[in-house]
Amino acid sequence: MSSSPAPARDRRPPALRRTGKALPGDARAHNRALLLQSLFRAGPYSRADLARMTGLTRVTVSDLITDLLADGLVNELGPRTETRIGKPATLIALNTDAAHLVTLNLTDDQVLTGAVLDLDGRVLRRRALPRDGRTGVRAIALVVELARALVAEATRPVLGVGIGSPGVVDPVGTVLDAPNMGWVGVPLAALVAAELSLPVHVANDANTAALAEHTFGGADDGGTLVITVGQGVGAGLLLDGALVQGRRFAAGEIGHVVVDENGPPSVCGRSGCLETFLAVPLLRRALAAHPGRPEDVLTAVGERLGMALAPVVSTLNLSEVVLNGPPDLLRGPLLDAAVRTVRRRTMPVVGDHLDVRLSDLHDDAVLFGAGALVLSGQLGVA
Ligand SMILES: [Zn+2]
Repeated sequence: MSSSPAPARDRRPPALRRTGKALPGDARAHNRALLLQSLFRAGPYSRADLARMTGLTRVTVSDLITDLLADGLVNELGPRTETRIGKPATLIALNTDAAHLVTLNLTDDQVLTGAVLDLDGRVLRRRALPRDGRTGVRAIALVVELARALVAEATRPVLGVGIGSPGVVDPVGTVLDAPNMGWVGVPLAALVAAELSLPVHVANDANTAALAEHTFGGADDGGTLVITVGQGVGAGLLLDGALVQGRRFAAGEIGHVVVDENGPPSVCGRSGCLETFLAVPLLRRALAAHPGRPEDVLTAVGERLGMALAPVVSTLNLSEVVLNGPPDLLRGPLLDAAVRTVRRRTMPVVGDHLDVRLSDLHDDAVLFGAGALVLSGQLGVA
């Protein structure tokens, strides 16, 4: 039996399922990603451990580890101290200091934020640039400026740039439609990559926040809906270990489900969308309009959230709903009313086992998720 201490790294959830079709020439990259994935989730491990865990031969593992050592992505930690007969095995660990990730969050109307992360998701540097109302090409220029400043601050080679953007984003990082940025069909990933000569990955901000819950936030693997409550309301859905994109890459648009046809007008042109009650600026305005009755306001909004959630939770039999937004608004009456409403409107087998909680990642979910995009896109780990 091994006497090596339990790894200090957090246990990671299972890998995100790859939905793309693997090409035959991808085999080596795929096997390399398998090893990195194992080491990212836990580790350290010996070459023999890795062969056992991945099903690869010992020769293949040794060969790939030699490459990874040469690339500096893994370290040899020296022999495992154990009492088994024979030569002690050398342990291999991910070198989280090998490269840095540059990540950007474009969600906020007022300010673009960004960070430099290490491979373990630790924030090393932060930077922000005011938007000053910029849209269109001027907003693209601002994104490039922020990314360039962060790349300059990284003290290791930059593995890639990850960007969480509002709007509908396709899998190659083209922003199909982001009204508040004034972007329609903007190939953001390609534009920023050309400016910085680095790999760039762009995804919808709510999807990016969902990825963060999966990779860094301890999301359950049984089906997680991550709802981002900010200027607007968005959601990302993780099902069977994969991010659900939807036919037109707009899965998760729960914010524009009508919950009260007589409600306030919505930016989408209809009335009474969930977002018109739950978006942070509107919720704060409602609280200010009813001083002395915050609990009633928050409970009523929580009930509307529960109404929108119930059919989704029930249809997909989700195991958890994670809310990401200001805890002072979401925790307590709002969350409690949402849970009560979902339970009242679904079968016990669905509602009773549902976990509804607040995210631990707070404002950094999109930045962490953008890091997860780069890890997944460049190393195949998630
Ligand atoms: Zn709407």
